[in-house]
Amino acid sequence: MPRPIEALIHPEAVAHNLATARAAVPDAKLWAVVKANAYGHGIERVYSGLQSADGIALLDLAEAERVRALGWRKPVLLLEGVFEARDLELCSRLNLWHAVHHDAQIDWLGAHKTHQPHRVFLKLNSGMNRLGFAPSAYRSAWARLNALPQVDEISLMTHFADADGPNGVEAQVAVFDEVTRDLPGERSLSNSAAILRHRALKTDWVRAGILSYGSAPDYPEHDIAHWGLQPTMTLRAQLIATQQLQPGDTVGYGSRFRAEAPLRIGVVACGYADGYPRLAGSGTPVLVDGIRCTTVGRVSMDMLAVDLTPVPAARVGSEVTLWGRGPHGTLLAIDEPAAAAGTIGYELMCALAQRVPVRIE
Ligand SMILES: *Cc1c(COP(=O)(O)O)cnc(C)c1O
Repeated sequence: MPRPIEALIHPEAVAHNLATARAAVPDAKLWAVVKANAYGHGIERVYSGLQSADGIALLDLAEAERVRALGWRKPVLLLEGVFEARDLELCSRLNLWHAVHHDAQIDWLGAHKTHQPHRVFLKLNSGMNRLGFAPSAYRSAWARLNALPQVDEISLMTHFADADGPNGVEAQVAVFDEVTRDLPGERSLSNSAAILRHRALKTDWVRAGILSYGSAPDYPEHDIAHWGLQPTMTLRAQLIATQQLQPGDTVGYGSRFRAEAPLRIGVVACGYADGYPRLAGSGTPVLVDGIRCTTVGRVSMDMLAVDLTPVPAARVGSEVTLWGRGPHGTLLAIDEPAAAAGTIGYELMCALAQRVPVRIE
C-alpha cells in the first residue's frame, strides 16, 4: 500500500464557487483566474468546473497553451502580458488577449507582424505599485496603443491592494475613474475580495481567483460558510501510529509540546514535505474521523501529531483531514490551518507537494 496520504480535487465545487461569484456581480463578465496551475489544483483537473466562465486568465504562456489544448475557445488573458517580443507570436497564433503594463510591451507590439490585431488590457497603477502605468503616463500609453494597427480593442484594468480589508478600494477607484474618465473600452477591476465585498463597483470584467478555490479572501473577518463557498481541494491522510503519553512526556523535535496529564495522541502520515506548513504550531485544527482535534508539537517532514482526546475510538488507519472535505459531510476550510501558520489559503493550496497523489472526486 502506498503511504496513506492523498489530495482530492473537486471540480464541481469550483463550478459552484464561480456561480457564487456570478450571483454577486450578475452584470459582469467573469474571468476564471487559473494562474499557478489553478492555484495548485491542476488546470486540467478543475477544467470541467470552469465552463461557465466567460474567459480564463493566467500568467504563463505554457499554461495558456494547455488551456487552448483542452479546447477552450473563449477568451484567454495574460495578466502580466508578454515577457519578450517573441511571445506575441504565440498570442497571435492562440488568440490570447494580453495585459500591457510597461512601455517596452508597446514597442514590441509596434514591431509585431500579425494579420489579426490584438485585444489588450492596459493596466493602470492606481496605488498597488506592482504593475501598471503611473496615472501621469497612462493616457499617453493609451494613445500610443490606439495608433497601432496591431491593436484592436483596448480595455482598461487595475488591481486592488486592499479590497479584503478596512482600507477598501475607494482611493484606487478614484484614481482609476479620474485617469480613465473619457476613455472608451471595457473596464476590469475586481479580484475575489472586491467581487464579494464591493459589489456595486462598475466593472465589465471581474477576475475571480481565490474564491473559486474555496478560500475566503477576507478570512478571518468572514469564512467560506459566510460567502457560500465550498472547498475545492481536500488533503487527507491516515493515522499510522498512536502513543499513550504520561504527564511530562514531550512530542516531536525540540520537545515543544509537553503533556500535563495522561494523553493519547495519533501520528499522521503528513508533514511539511507534503505541503503542510511547518509553522502551524500546537493547536492547529484537523479532523480525525470527521471530529475536530488539534495538533501537538512540531510538524516534521513526514509526520505530525494530534491530540486524540475528542475521538477515543481513533486507531491506526483512522482518516485525518488536514483541510477540505471530511467524512460524513464534515468540512475544514483551508483558511484555518493557513491562519494557524500565519499565512493564507492561497499559499497552502499552491504549495501542495509533488509527492502527494491527486485524484479528482
Ligand atoms: C491573481 C490575480 C487576480 C485574482 O486574485 P484573487 O485574490 O485570487 O481573486 C486578479 N487579478 C490579477 C491581476 C491577479 O494577478
